[in-house]
Amino acid sequence: MSINPDPYSRISPKLRGILQKKDVFFDVHCHIFTSKDVPDGFLGIRVPFDQRFLKFLEHQLHKIISKSDTDKLSNLAYFIEFFRSRSSEETAEKLMGYYPVKNFVFCPLMMDMAPGIKGKIERDYDEQIEKMKSVRDEFPNTILPFFAADPNNPKVLQNFLKVFSDKEDYKFFGVKIYPSLGYLPSHPELMNIYSLCEKNKIPVTAHCAGASVHSSKKTIKDISGFHYVPGQGFVEKTITKSFKRKKDYANFFNHPRNWIPVLEKYPNLKLNLAHFGGDNEWKDFLSGKTDTWVETIMDLMGKHPNLYSDFSYTMYHPGIAKKLKSMVMENDLLASQLLYGSDYYMIVREGHFKAMKNNFIELMGEDIMKKVAFENPKRFLFGS
Ligand SMILES: [Zn+2]
Repeated sequence: MSINPDPYSRISPKLRGILQKKDVFFDVHCHIFTSKDVPDGFLGIRVPFDQRFLKFLEHQLHKIISKSDTDKLSNLAYFIEFFRSRSSEETAEKLMGYYPVKNFVFCPLMMDMAPGIKGKIERDYDEQIEKMKSVRDEFPNTILPFFAADPNNPKVLQNFLKVFSDKEDYKFFGVKIYPSLGYLPSHPELMNIYSLCEKNKIPVTAHCAGASVHSSKKTIKDISGFHYVPGQGFVEKTITKSFKRKKDYANFFNHPRNWIPVLEKYPNLKLNLAHFGGDNEWKDFLSGKTDTWVETIMDLMGKHPNLYSDFSYTMYHPGIAKKLKSMVMENDLLASQLLYGSDYYMIVREGHFKAMKNNFIELMGEDIMKKVAFENPKRFLFGS
């Protein structure tokens, strides 16, 4: 099985032509999975995601808060409207409708939640891969699929080789990592995968914010990879650990410093630490706290030119976005390593997609948007 090291070999000839001549608007962080693709423990509700139930729930939520439609419950109803969508095609088309630009390209990030989250699932990960391929085939000039690599899935390497092989016609584009599902970024199986990604210029996007999604196990066995030990640095070992709150999963698995051993071993790996730490870390950072994830990420950016960070989801917050803009204007490094991503449709839990996206784009202005939605993502996705 061989992988072609040229990222352009993984896209349609038409998109190749467009990228050579024209500006493209990239949204590097989106989701088009539906309720069929995730275990029924996902929303923390212990009932199956039956279409009728979701419709009922959405309806009830709208009724409870009929006076205002911008509060939390209503946003949850709005989220469920996407989530219970019958097909990924429908969700993808809806997203394209939100971007009335000529050449729009987006990266749907897959999620393999079954190894980390208990519950029944309608479509297993192998089927989701086939499904993603058919959605991409329907929109070949718009979609660059990111394959979810979960080292707790025994078929992770086999599937990775399949979707990137130049003998097969999957030709997926990047890799998605979600540590709080129960593994460290430096898991040995993932290290093998990064080595292939580095060699073949495959970009990797990793969730780097709170653990809004995390393993449903309270005690996780055999957590292998490089563990950060205060006073000692990184120690390679395998441990068993118990977790109580969301924050415990986030701090242990999603902390950006977990990527240091990876970046040291694979300095040419193209990595995107998604969400730039997330809104809570940004609030801490803005309040003057030190040692926040935001600082850790910026510090790592200074050392690793192939490290990027997208502002998906976090962009919903106008105050944080304003601060980001002033930082981008002062800091060339940040200006060249920041990526535009929306986290469609996860972000709709914070408000209406169109309004949040347009406000952010308007606030950043044309010059910054050209960098973060075109120049930087083009380097992240297609550069060496
Ligand atoms: Zn996301």
